[in-house]
Amino acid sequence: MKIEEVQSTTKKQRIATHTHIKGLGLEPNGKAMPLAAGFVGQAMAREASGLVVDMIRQKKMAGRALLLAGPPGTGKTALALGISQELGSKVPFCPMVGSEVYSAEVKKTEVLMENFRRAIGLRIKENKEVYEGEVTELSPEETESVTGGYGKSISHVIIGLKTVKGTKQLKLDPTIYDALIKEKVAVGDVIYIEANSGAVKRVGRSDAFATEFDLEAEEYVPLPKGEVHKKKEIVQDVTLHDLDAANARPQGGQDILSLMGQMMKPRKTEITDKLRQEINKVVNRYIDEGVAELVPGVLFIDEVHMLDMECFSYMNRALESPLSPIVVFATNRGICNVRGTDMTSPHGIPVDLLDRLVIIRTETYGPAEMLQILAIRAHVEGLSIDEGSLAYLAESGQKASLRHAVQLLSPASVVAKMNGRDQICKADLEEVSTLYLDAKLSAKLLQEQQDRYIS
Ligand code: ATP
Repeated sequence: MKIEEVQSTTKKQRIATHTHIKGLGLEPNGKAMPLAAGFVGQAMAREASGLVVDMIRQKKMAGRALLLAGPPGTGKTALALGISQELGSKVPFCPMVGSEVYSAEVKKTEVLMENFRRAIGLRIKENKEVYEGEVTELSPEETESVTGGYGKSISHVIIGLKTVKGTKQLKLDPTIYDALIKEKVAVGDVIYIEANSGAVKRVGRSDAFATEFDLEAEEYVPLPKGEVHKKKEIVQDVTLHDLDAANARPQGGQDILSLMGQMMKPRKTEITDKLRQEINKVVNRYIDEGVAELVPGVLFIDEVHMLDMECFSYMNRALESPLSPIVVFATNRGICNVRGTDMTSPHGIPVDLLDRLVIIRTETYGPAEMLQILAIRAHVEGLSIDEGSLAYLAESGQKASLRHAVQLLSPASVVAKMNGRDQICKADLEEVSTLYLDAKLSAKLLQEQQDRYIS
């Protein structure tokens, strides 16, 4: 079974509004800087999150989870993302909303399991050797065709490769010859060959291998040992879900994660428990052999009060697993019912799970902080807006929510462009805010006009 390299399917759209967050912005002593790593204010919560990062590093969070409690629009997602970035640049971050588990097609625990696996990374290391040489000969070796003298066929390509230890004649697959000719490689040119355990994998004009050739394993030709130009360590970062998905998908990609590919048996068409178990087995073997390393990431579950008992018992079990990411819950609820029961509990979370939680509060932003956050967002989105309009936007953020204000930026810039301006002005913001209702206003209207809607 081949495991293809797949684009990580992290739900990009959901973290798109947080691209300016690069960490928690703490000083080495753990104090929050007023504005750092894209973060503004929320000092106590950032400092507390920094402590959680330390606990994770010291492996003191095993079996536990974090709960961010605070009103909407107070940067809970941003904090969870900041935590994952503090843990390392390639640490997976998977955001989800509690209500996502309720789907007509998929079991609740299946949705949770998939998201857990999106939040667990695997770093796979492969050692490759790179040979550098000058082409001294480049010619196809022709042999009589098996059909008996009617024509010649090319069975191999000879490359005379001048390396530090003299010239070596290499017999390569004809596809390499075609590619070399297409790339206008001529005698006298320097080329690079990348090999894995002596088998040719790629040939290119630079050791960065912009030119790649896709070869079948049986056509590899052993390279002279001991004339390595340099050794390269190739590192691939994937999530367990990427591996599940790549193995469940019908064959198709060209970029093959060959290392994993050597081990597994025929392909399946959907992600099943059995497939996941097989993947876990291979993953564990690679970890034992030191070829791969687990990178536990952050699973962020917003609106945790939307989960029911079945989900909570799944969470309890999952947190015990050695293959568990760091789970960060978020809620804006106080005491409420645990979904589907008449049992009340803080944040709608059953007490046995509450016992495992470290709780951090987030506070509402003042106008100055909102203004700064909006200025950062305008900057990263490459939008130009004058001071006065920004202040107006911050004001409407105070009335509605920060998220609503952030979301008005981009349509306002479209309106500005339509009016032939590059800079957003107050009138653009006024125009778009009449077009888009914020959640509070929308709820108010719904209530006022209740009789006109189907309930
Ligand atoms: P919550 O989960 O609390 O509802 P969120 O993190 O999902 O909040 P908002 O708080 O609505 O999102 O944030 C809106 C925007 O403001 C996002 O782009 C977010 O990254 C940004 N943001 C929120 N808090 C901060 C902060 N303290 N510093 C910088 N940017 C922030």
